[in-house]
Amino acid sequence: MVEAMASTRDSLPWYVVLSIQKDHAVEPSGHSHVLGLATRDPDGDETHWTLVQVISAIRDGERFVVGEDPNDQGAAIEPTVCPQCPKATLVVGTPTH
Ligand SMILES: [Zn+2]
Repeated sequence: MVEAMASTRDSLPWYVVLSIQKDHAVEPSGHSHVLGLATRDPDGDETHWTLVQVISAIRDGERFVVGEDPNDQGAAIEPTVCPQCPKATLVVGTPTH
């Protein structure tokens, strides 16, 4: 149920994304991928994450949110595969579920 999920999330800290580091135009088609993130942590510090660290943390149940509202599902960072090549990257939002 939605209510049960929401109450669980309320007790979890999340990382607020301050900036997203991307590669630029390294592909022939000119598209780019996320290389890492800088976040404001639940304890107030800032952390720089590599792409691999972010994906690992998400799989461990951490949440990365763009903006200050943790309940905005459209603002959550999700791991994905680039639609234009086989590289891993990150996307903001959960369009498929
Ligand atoms: Zn790509």
